[in-house]
Formats: sequence, C-alpha cells, structure tokens
Amino acid sequence: MRIFNLFKRSDIECPRCLGKGFVDWEDIARLNRRLKWVPAPCAYCNATGKVEKEMLSKVAVDCMYLTIDLPESVIEKIKEGDRETVEKGKQRELFVEFLIQYAEHHYFTQNMDAESIANLYLKNEAENAPFSATREELIKYIQGVIELKKSVLN
Ligand SMILES: [Zn+2]
Repeated sequence: MRIFNLFKRSDIECPRCLGKGFVDWEDIARLNRRLKWVPAPCAYCNATGKVEKEMLSKVAVDCMYLTIDLPESVIEKIKEGDRETVEKGKQRELFVEFLIQYAEHHYFTQNMDAESIANLYLKNEAENAPFSATREELIKYIQGVIELKKSVLN
C-alpha cells in the first residue's frame, strides 16, 4: 500500500504533528490528548509531515485511536472509515475516559494511591471491562492520571 503514496501529491502540512512527522508533548497538549497519547511518530501523516487533503475530511486530526502502534491494516481501515474499526476505537476511547474518571474520583474523594485504585478496579470493574490491562499497566497509568490532575490544580 505504502508505495502508492509516493505518487500521490500531498503537500499539506500535517495538522497533528505540524510537519515534524513526530507527535511530541506539545502537540499532545495542544490537541488535548494528554493521558491518551505518548510522544511517537505521527500516525496521521505516517511520519512524513505531509497529508493529502482528503485525509483532513476523512479522519479527525485528534482522532484518539489513530496511533502509530496499530497494525497498518487497521490504520488503513480507520482511514477508509470502516464502521467496525471506528466503533472499536470509540469503545476504547470511552474505556480510557472511564479509567481517568475512576482514578480521579478515587484519588480526590477517597485519598487513595495509584496501587489501591488499581486493586479496587481489578476487583470490581475488570470483569465487565471491554479491554483488559495488567495490574502494572494500570498502576502506571493511574499514577499518570494523578500526577496530571495534581499539576492542573497547582
Ligand atoms: Zn503528522
């Protein structure tokens, strides 16, 4: 698939990475995707820094689930607007939103630390969750949520 891109005209600066081909912390803050992305090569422009005009109308710049760690076949499906793939992406975004709120709530109202929140989550919520995460991943993630929320307050 990728070879065809060589012959397509694509001269619009990528609005996600601003033409750098890499999404850094500044881009993540600008697009309001903190806690959802980490710095990585840009999936929106495939790290080229340029996008085709039609991409702008097909996929939102801040589309959370379009990230470089996805298999290329999934990235193509997102770009094509494949309904099942887009739906799965939305579910994932909702799950992440839920986790953030869950962590925030227990941190602020119960004064719990990341590890206790992760344990509570695994005990009560994990069974019905649409996506699974290991205990270590959860603790690390919840720690990140707490740190960001604390820094916003200060
Ligand atoms: Zn880009």
